[in-house]
Amino acid sequence: WASAPATLRDVFLAGRAHGDKTFLVYEDDRASFEAFSRATLALAQDLIRGGVKPGDRVAVAMRNLPEWPVAFFAAILAGAIATPLNAWWTGPELDHGFTDSGACVAIVDEERWARINERRGGYPALERVLIARAPAAPGTESLTDIIGAVADWGALPEGRVPDLPIDPEDIATLFYTSGTTGRSKGAIGTQRAGASGVMAHPFSAARAFLRRGEAVPVPDPAAPQKVALLSIPLFHVTGCFATLVTNLYRGGRLVMMRRWDLARAMVLIERERCTSAGGVPTIAFQLLDGMAAGTHDLSSLETISYGGAPAPAELVRRLRTAFPQAQPATGWGMTETTATFTHHQGEDYVHRPDSCGPPLPVCEAKVMDPEEVPLPPGEVGELWVKGPVVVAGYWNRPDANAEVFRDGWLRTGDLARIDAEGFITIVDRVKDMLIRGGENIYCAEVESVLHEHPAVVDAAVVGLPHPTLGEEPGAVVAIARGQEASEEELRAFVAGRLAAFKVPVRILLHDEILPRNPNGKILKNELKRLF
Ligand code: ATP
Ligand code: MG
Repeated sequence: WASAPATLRDVFLAGRAHGDKTFLVYEDDRASFEAFSRATLALAQDLIRGGVKPGDRVAVAMRNLPEWPVAFFAAILAGAIATPLNAWWTGPELDHGFTDSGACVAIVDEERWARINERRGGYPALERVLIARAPAAPGTESLTDIIGAVADWGALPEGRVPDLPIDPEDIATLFYTSGTTGRSKGAIGTQRAGASGVMAHPFSAARAFLRRGEAVPVPDPAAPQKVALLSIPLFHVTGCFATLVTNLYRGGRLVMMRRWDLARAMVLIERERCTSAGGVPTIAFQLLDGMAAGTHDLSSLETISYGGAPAPAELVRRLRTAFPQAQPATGWGMTETTATFTHHQGEDYVHRPDSCGPPLPVCEAKVMDPEEVPLPPGEVGELWVKGPVVVAGYWNRPDANAEVFRDGWLRTGDLARIDAEGFITIVDRVKDMLIRGGENIYCAEVESVLHEHPAVVDAAVVGLPHPTLGEEPGAVVAIARGQEASEEELRAFVAGRLAAFKVPVRILLHDEILPRNPNGKILKNELKRLF
């Protein structure tokens, strides 16, 4: 850890040193690390000239485009707080992002501009709007006028890194939570939290070898470049920190997709010889379909990793069979832990398919009962976590800060158990768990069993109100095309594997994959309405 980068500026400088190697690939655009850093420095200087002061919020609101990482790092190098806004947001959600953060600059794509344009009057702090890949509209500027098109980034002047005092404890980022359990909250990320993840992964992978008594492979500097398919949004911490920031630091190539699409992903994996893909469990399930279709060569994949939402144990078993050459990997994390907090891969994962792995090195986890007393290994309680990746608090939310941050620990709102060796299993969110007449039902457990049924491609368990029992479980299940399963058959299937009180009293059959937010989380409140 002594040589670990302490700030996101350190990460940027390490990335710049990868020079002429290709960093970003998006459709026909390609940018080397050098070209990326020239564009970023040009924009950072322009932001400073435009009056951005340390601590100002610079909103980045666009789909995954090569301009996204440029805007993100330019804001940070200018001493501002990079504030990625969810590209799916419209209307009141967008208003919340702008008014809560008080962003004074917004760097957007055309589609976001169309949404902001109508509402801009409601954002008094917003002084400057830069639109990527489009001529300036009235009251805006064109980002292309400042940094040029991607193909020309390499010809920009070398650029100067702004000479600003940047401390590891300074605020660098403001990422918004997914808003699954309520209004989205801004999580205040420090420079150190943003930079910590880049060392954690190699350390955590090394530890998995040591645990099995095997030698840790020494990285070969002459090995071919790693190529990651980036298919999840950069405005979520996993896309930004676990993918963009780590690959910038390590010299990996990012193949960007504007949005996830299986057919396109297969073309890109084959064409670019991607070594890793994944993101969220739904994507991993779709990659299985892609492999089964047999239309594209996906043999370059060395890693398929995912997190952010419960992954049924069935997934890793199927990945092992379909992609024998690839390491399956999973993890658990939150916006508040700057992406990955636990990491689980390879044989460890195959043998403990329910777990999301141990905490990253230098991070700690414990499980607490409702009276805030620590529980022994194996018992289920609320997961509390601590470590350099944990954010400094929520923006403008003293109420939530008082509830969630305790003596350096973060209460996660997730229910988990930790075994004697430190492996964590997430069983549910505190807010999703059902209590049926005093018996606890963890949705994730029932969902995992439904996934074992060969006809099931997607499953969600939700609480249905009951006059005397309080709640009882209901399920919505998506059936694979060309397969069949009745409600009765599925209930009997669960009854054969779980205690009777956990068997969903009603199972609705759905023709499509269940609705999710961009972070792979099923929109359970929408599903409850179906009942
Ligand atoms: P909000 O906090 O606004 O309600 P959110 O919690 O969904 O939204 P995120 O920070 O994107 O916002 O998601 C973190 C949550 O995602 C975790 O608290 C956990 O419930 C879930 N999660 C993440 N990884 C996993 C995993 N591997 N298994 C199960 N759940 C996971
Ligand atoms: Mg949350």
